Amino acid sequence: MKEETTVTSPLQIHMFPCLQDNYGFLVRSPDTGETACIDTPEVDKIVLALEEKGWTLTHIWNTHHHWDHAGGNLELKKLYDLKIIGCEADRKRLPGLDIGLKDGDHFNFAGHDVHVMETPGHTIGHIIYHIPSAQAAFVGDTIFALGCGRLFEGTPEQMFDSLAKISALPDDTLLYCAHEYTLSNGRFALTVEPDNQALIDFMAKAKTRRANNLPTIPTTVMAEKLANPFVRANSAERLGAIRKAKDNF
Ligand code: ZN
Ligand code: FE
Repeated sequence: MKEETTVTSPLQIHMFPCLQDNYGFLVRSPDTGETACIDTPEVDKIVLALEEKGWTLTHIWNTHHHWDHAGGNLELKKLYDLKIIGCEADRKRLPGLDIGLKDGDHFNFAGHDVHVMETPGHTIGHIIYHIPSAQAAFVGDTIFALGCGRLFEGTPEQMFDSLAKISALPDDTLLYCAHEYTLSNGRFALTVEPDNQALIDFMAKAKTRRANNLPTIPTTVMAEKLANPFVRANSAERLGAIRKAKDNF
C-alpha cells in the first residue's frame, strides 16, 4: 500500500513599497491559498499587490498599533473575509483585532508553525512573527537594517532585551523590517563604529541597491550582529546612549 504523505510547499513572500518608506508584505501558502499581510500601511497598495498576484487576503498580522502599521485594518476587513492577529496586550489600540497573542505563543498557518515574540521598546505590545520553515521573521519597527526603532513607549532595557531575542534567532534568518531606513541608519552607524569593515561593506552594497531603486530588506540576523551598533551594544545603558545620539543625529 502506498503511504500517504503530506507535502507542505514553501510559503511565498511578496514585498512592495508603501507610503514614504514603509514596506508591505504578503505571505501566502500555495497549498491552501491562505494569504496574510503583515501590517496595513497602505490599503490601496495592498489591494493592488493582491490583485496583481491573484491572491485573496485571509489574515492580517499586526506588529504594533502605529497608524502606518494598523491604520488600514478596518478598511481591509470590510473588503475581505479575514482575521486580524495581534498582541493581546494592545487589543484596545489594534482596530478590529480578532485573535490576541502573547510572548511565546505559536500558531499554525497553512501547516507552517509561526512563533510570536513580544519585543517591547518602540511600543509596548510590539510583537514579531518568526516562521522557522521560511527562515523569516517579520520584525515591524523593532529592528531595522543597521538600526532599531525609536523608543516611543519602552525603555532602553526593554529594547536591549528585544534585540537580544532577535539575535538569538538562527543567523540565516531573514529579517523583514517595516521601513527602508538603511542608508540613514548606516550613516549614523558609521559614526559609532567607523572602522567596522562589515558595516562599511554593508553600506557600500546598500548604496548600490538604493541607487538602482532596489530594497535593502530583508537583512539577516548575522549581518545585523556584525554591523548594527544597536545589536552590538553590550549593555542597555550603551544602547540608550546610542539611541539618544541617533535621535539627535
Ligand atoms: Zn512604529
Ligand atoms: Fe512604522
